[in-house]
Amino acid sequence: MNSCLIIGAGMAGLTAGRLLAEKGIDVRILDKGRGVGGRLATRRIESPKGNGVFDYGAQFMTVSDPLLQKWVFKWNNEGYIEPWPLSAEPNGPRTRWIGKNGMRTIAKLLAENLKVHTRVHIIKLEYQDEQWWVYDKTGLSFHADSIILTAPVPQALDLLHTSQYSLTEDEQRSLAQIVYEPCFALLLMMDQSPEKLSTGPLELEHGSIRWIADNKQKGISPQRIAVTLHASPEFTRHHFDKDHKWVIDHMIDVAVSYIGKINVIDTVQLHRWRFSLVTKPFSKPFFSLSTPRPLILAGDGFYGARIESAFLSGKAGAEYLLLNYFR
Ligand SMILES: Cc1cc2nc3c(=O)[nH]c(=O)nc-3n(C[C@H](O)[C@H](O)[C@H](O)COP(=O)(O)OP(=O)(O)OC[C@H]3O[C@@H](n4cnc5c(N)ncnc54)[C@H](O)[C@@H]3O)c2cc1C
Repeated sequence: MNSCLIIGAGMAGLTAGRLLAEKGIDVRILDKGRGVGGRLATRRIESPKGNGVFDYGAQFMTVSDPLLQKWVFKWNNEGYIEPWPLSAEPNGPRTRWIGKNGMRTIAKLLAENLKVHTRVHIIKLEYQDEQWWVYDKTGLSFHADSIILTAPVPQALDLLHTSQYSLTEDEQRSLAQIVYEPCFALLLMMDQSPEKLSTGPLELEHGSIRWIADNKQKGISPQRIAVTLHASPEFTRHHFDKDHKWVIDHMIDVAVSYIGKINVIDTVQLHRWRFSLVTKPFSKPFFSLSTPRPLILAGDGFYGARIESAFLSGKAGAEYLLLNYFR
């Protein structure tokens, strides 16, 4: 039976996994995270006053590909996803789709019935006896005929490097051009909603904060006001290694100038996305390395900074394998 190991259970890896499994390929998806989703990230924070739910990576998904649209309409009919409440275009290519329980819902729907192993951090790949072998930090190993590697490209390159896999000069040059920006995500739980967030997110073009949204207004945090702030790429890049307190204080100060006084914050968490949005993607949907059996790099690094780009990349990688290797 043909087989494929997919490293990464984000949008790209799960899409590729679904499409390959539907064609009878033996697929295993491995992810170092505690759950599926990657940058489709939702966090629940418990507090004596009630729990807050935050989307702290991707905030919404727009869709124009017919297959993704088909999946989205099905999930919408089944009640798992919906357009962002009060958003401008309730049904069209700019509709902002969200998971009713957060964006990670989308990853959970894709992962249904697939063989997904979480908390598996792959640290080495090896080609042996016409098979790919991968090893995780704890000594677990998996093998298959092919690999789709969907980690953000700099992490994928590190993994290839530590596996002593040498890229050709051309491969090295092409892949080194893919650039991601970092992003601080600040999560604040508070008692009263800032008035300026009651009708939807604030999207800012300049300054150190680019996005402020209340997840209660969004509909995913019924018990508590739960505000997500995203810092600008420039601010994050400049201050990436500063301590938590400095970043939190600075972001709150700036936020107040947009949304007004914040009444009593009782919980604060900061997440540092080292690889957030791709600013220089590769021009093709995936990258097939020159290996004896397929080793494909995929993910949003190959199309652009959107969930749908990651979907398209995963889909293209799977279709390439089906057409060229798994006939
Ligand atoms: C702050 C932020 C806001 C965003 N906002 C939006 C938005 O509103 N709309 C939108 O469309 N897009 C948005 N995006 C972009 C979108 O989230 C991404 O384009 C998309 O989710 C990328 O999916 P992916 O599968 O390519 O990568 P990822 O989601 O990063 O998945 C890669 C997976 O690989 C795993 N992995 C990496 N290395 C290893 C290893 N060695 N072993 C095992 N597992 C490994 C990771 O744990 C991860 O789960 C945003 C992203 C961020 C961070």
